[in-house]
Amino acid sequence: MNICIIGTGYVGLVSGACYSDIGHNVTCIDINKEKIESLNKGIVPIFEPGLEELIKKNVKADRLKFSIEFEQGIQGANIVYLIVGTDPLSNGETDLTYLKEAAKSVAKYLTDYKLIAIKSTVPVGTCRKIKKLITKEAGHSNFDIASNPEFLREGSAISDTFNMERAVFGVETDRAEKLLRKLHEKFKTKVVVTNLESSEMIKYAANAFLATKISFINEIANVCEKVGADVTKVSEGIGLDHRISPFFLNAGIGYGGSCFPKDTSSLVKIAEEVGYDFKIVKDVERVNYEQRFKVIEKLKEAIGGKLKGKRIAVLGLAFKPNTDDMRGAPSIDIIYKLQQCEANIIAYDPIASENAKKIIPNLKTTNSILEAANGAHALIILTEWPEFQDIDLEVLEKIMDNNVIIDGRNVFSISMMKSLDFYYASIGRETIY
Ligand code: NAD
Repeated sequence: MNICIIGTGYVGLVSGACYSDIGHNVTCIDINKEKIESLNKGIVPIFEPGLEELIKKNVKADRLKFSIEFEQGIQGANIVYLIVGTDPLSNGETDLTYLKEAAKSVAKYLTDYKLIAIKSTVPVGTCRKIKKLITKEAGHSNFDIASNPEFLREGSAISDTFNMERAVFGVETDRAEKLLRKLHEKFKTKVVVTNLESSEMIKYAANAFLATKISFINEIANVCEKVGADVTKVSEGIGLDHRISPFFLNAGIGYGGSCFPKDTSSLVKIAEEVGYDFKIVKDVERVNYEQRFKVIEKLKEAIGGKLKGKRIAVLGLAFKPNTDDMRGAPSIDIIYKLQQCEANIIAYDPIASENAKKIIPNLKTTNSILEAANGAHALIILTEWPEFQDIDLEVLEKIMDNNVIIDGRNVFSISMMKSLDFYYASIGRETIY
């Protein structure tokens, strides 16, 4: 099939690379000229494991192209995907400016039948609005609209796409369903076919549910600390029940990223607009926001209140491991707070430092864990990068000024920490000193 993708960001690029790898001809379009020029030179603008290789392979096989020319991509395409950003506005509503602009660009070149599929996460009712807009702009309705939300996770986006657990097709016609089934044939996935509204809602409900699991286990963790229970054991104990499942039960400093924060607030707004007060999701958001500051409380407790002038090593900046994405990362608020307390911060992240510096002014970063830890009064862990598990803690003991570790992601086991000479505080577990 010939596929045109409008919006070559995280999702558009990964989807384009994966669709081309299973044999489709894909053209990825973007308005960002520099991004397309880089991609055409073989430079991949984001870090995602395996993506660069996959792109190179399919560009070489002439199945994957990048362009700023909408006409070139749209003409001849069976399916046109809209995968542009849908960031929140300051009032919590979703900004549909990019989506509307992308839809207008498609309408301009809509000469024969196409399926226009929206993969961006959009408020319920948006696909129908975009259908009206395209009909008006194109002057005809020789197209179908579909909602085909995306569930990939940054950091494992490629394997998530190749091994997708389900595909959701919000469609109005058999023709649209057939086209989406054909595109997904080789993924051998379960398919949920429904109307546009249910499909749009599935995406929000999925993310809100996962966010709820995280805030739930974080509240359990906060109680565990006060009653002498260990949240990692509690998670294990409840996660073995298949009705609960072990996933998204890691206590810590809460979720971040470009999706959960915006999708939960969007869902609250969607409900509000139809007169419904979505109480659970509002609390999930509040719990998540407050949770990130637990590391500051624990840090103050460990080093006697005042942080002014104290050298604090921060390990991990990205909102989760295996990505350089800083959007919505809890580290941002935590570092702002440390800066307000006039702490002397030195941060290390394997790949997100450059992106972090664009968001956090005056952030000092280093290229190694040891450099960050050298002479530090305390070290705090904000992202569970796998390499942090391999830190030589005996070396750390020697080079830190004060052996304090505040572990916001429960990276180290309590039994191991008991064998070392650290003040060690984590989330929902006993503090060792
Ligand atoms: P992104 O910001 O990385 O990429 C969006 C791209 O669209 C950018 O390259 C931008 O230049 C381009 N663009 C904007 N307007 C355009 C236009 N008129 N024509 C062509 N290109 C245009 O965003 P993303 O992370 O890929 O997210 C895209 C959508 O997918 C969002 O709705 C998001 O909520 C959803 N989503 C994201 C993830 C994720 O993990 N990032 C997962 C699931 C769903």
